[in-house]
Amino acid sequence: MKSHFSLILLSTLQCNADCEYCFEIKSDDRLTLDRLGEIIRKVLDYMVEKSLASLTIYWQGGEAMLLPPTWYEQAHTLIQREAELRGKQVFHSLQSNMLAYNARWNRVIADMFGNSVGTSLDYPNRHRKLLGQAPDNYNAIWGQRVQEARAAGIEVQVIAVPNQATLEVGAERFYAYFADELGVSDFQVNTPFPGGEATAAKRELPVAEVEKLTRFYLDLAEVWLERGHGRGVSIGPFDALLRHFSYEPATLPCIWGENCANALVSIDPRGQVAQCDCWVTSYPDYHYGNIFECDNFGELLKTSAARQQFNQRPIHLVQHDCLECDYLALCHGGCPVRTYTVHGSLFEKDPYCELYKALFERMQRAARDLAQAAVATRRAA
Ligand code: SF4
Ligand code: SF4
Ligand code: SF4
Repeated sequence: MKSHFSLILLSTLQCNADCEYCFEIKSDDRLTLDRLGEIIRKVLDYMVEKSLASLTIYWQGGEAMLLPPTWYEQAHTLIQREAELRGKQVFHSLQSNMLAYNARWNRVIADMFGNSVGTSLDYPNRHRKLLGQAPDNYNAIWGQRVQEARAAGIEVQVIAVPNQATLEVGAERFYAYFADELGVSDFQVNTPFPGGEATAAKRELPVAEVEKLTRFYLDLAEVWLERGHGRGVSIGPFDALLRHFSYEPATLPCIWGENCANALVSIDPRGQVAQCDCWVTSYPDYHYGNIFECDNFGELLKTSAARQQFNQRPIHLVQHDCLECDYLALCHGGCPVRTYTVHGSLFEKDPYCELYKALFERMQRAARDLAQAAVATRRAA
């Protein structure tokens, strides 16, 4: 959607968890409603200049639920008012670790967030922790909160990041944990990357083991195609790829976008602007500027030297690393942050290139098989 814009808005840099692979540098900064108003007016004015019709705000932290639900209710009203004044549509999406969830959130989650929340859990959990506690406690509290949210009718989508233990237990067990034991019908598996300060946990992430990780993804694709697809279980990015190769409308993840700098930006509670949450919290050299220090958000973006590098990356890759690739029009060289955190440069292709190619091939074949099976069924009828 060309006339759509996305904003990852970090309402606070505080967190009630202490995940060992977290890429964020935490602080006590929290967004005030006054400052939110300034951000929103500037972003919406930019949308008017660029004729962008709609905006999705992805609310994240730190931990977004450390601000109270009443704050979000006021924020919602404020944003609606500013959007209506300019004839723009704004949608909201909430990403939370759910540790602070309680029934007081239900009204705003229904009214503002379409009764849906995105959260994160790994299996086995090695690195996600409550402050000063063991990973097991995290899972127990997370499980309880998610159960309560579901009982209140809230849809919960889960993002999981594979670690060494995930590769050891394998795809079958991983799938069974999420789909069968937790009853999660919508989850997404993100490739790990060592963003931010180096830690032992980040060094342990299976980033250099692309072959093993590829095997895991391909095995998981088989399990999903056999047991989940067509039976109400959605796994990203498999389902979106299958739709893409079936010529159906598909929302692919930002990692395969033409150029994420054209479609998305992130702002933290201090007003710092950068490409996405990892860049804004951990890489000050790649900040585009500060929205509170500019008069015009479009000018800030246009004149940012850091953003120019993001804009040059796809052109560079088309002319070099990705020139011969059959999937160039789908992948565009992959994700800048994964590239930067592994190679220390934006001007290389994504370190998961081989994994992506294997997935693309597998899902392309699955789409062809499904289309052939549908034709055979029609003929037999
Ligand atoms: S990964 Fe998310 S939940 Fe975990 S410490 Fe970082 S910000 Fe908090
Ligand atoms: S850097 Fe990667 S994760 Fe961030 S917006 Fe771009 S593609 Fe998405
Ligand atoms: S699959 Fe690899 S070579 Fe192809 S576009 Fe993506 S990163 Fe480039």
